[in-house]
Amino acid sequence: MGRFRPVLGILLAIVATCLIACGGPATKIPTTYTPEILQQVELYTPGVATLRDRFPELEGYIQDQDWRNVQSFIHGPMGELRTRVNRLAATLLTKDQPQAESLAKELYGHLERLDEAAVNGQQVVAGQEYRNALDDFDAFLNLVPAV
Ligand code: ZN
Repeated sequence: MGRFRPVLGILLAIVATCLIACGGPATKIPTTYTPEILQQVELYTPGVATLRDRFPELEGYIQDQDWRNVQSFIHGPMGELRTRVNRLAATLLTKDQPQAESLAKELYGHLERLDEAAVNGQQVVAGQEYRNALDDFDAFLNLVPAV
């Protein structure tokens, strides 16, 4: 029995290493939506969907060259956009998060440039940024499971 002990020790070390490296609940990344994750998604989706529904109000202001309302809309109702979108993005599957985050960043970038265009009264640029923002917003929402 005595001479098997070292071998047993090595085996136990290998098993222990493997358990630490390959197991443990902390390292398990869900690849599909579980009811628990969907609950989180469901919690944060309405706040973002509300802003998406109101988004076309911007189009009307741009058409009317109502730059003051474009700006107050971006800083008012859409002021919550970043926080809400980021919170929702964090509930998505790990595999979708890089794309969600880059679409969200794009969306904020377009809104910042739309804001700038409004300051300078550039209608064509404003219209382009509006449409690009909308495209990125919808692409982001396409990553969100319907709940
Ligand atoms: Zn874009």
